[in-house]
Amino acid sequence: MGDTLFGKIIRREIPADIVYEDDEVVAFRDVNPQAPVHVLFIPKQALATLNDASDADATLIGKLVLAATRWARQQGFADNGYRCVINCNRDGGQTVFHLHLHLLAGRQMHWPPG
Ligand code: AMP
Repeated sequence: MGDTLFGKIIRREIPADIVYEDDEVVAFRDVNPQAPVHVLFIPKQALATLNDASDADATLIGKLVLAATRWARQQGFADNGYRCVINCNRDGGQTVFHLHLHLLAGRQMHWPPG
């Protein structure tokens, strides 16, 4: 686990509203939500950015996405729809360097995102 804010959340060193956890993934509500539902899905095994992912991480990244989609179904908004976002580095708007997937739902999303 990396020593980031999110590593501290995984280790329960700082509080978070955790909504899902399995052996490899943790999900918690974003502290600054951009939609009625805004949850961050993170791998327990820290990768700083999407650029740091290799073929060896393909299964982990698949599990991250599938954990989010499964949770969306369980919460009942999958059919209405949602958005999954992974920001990468400066131009992608990444601010926490522990790979995470934003799951946004509960309102109409727009494109382009800006
Ligand atoms: P990103 O800009 O893609 O790196 O996303 C980082 C996200 O982490 C932002 O949406 C922040 O609002 C969120 N965030 C920062 N600190 C916390 C925290 N302590 N608990 C939950 N979410 C956080």
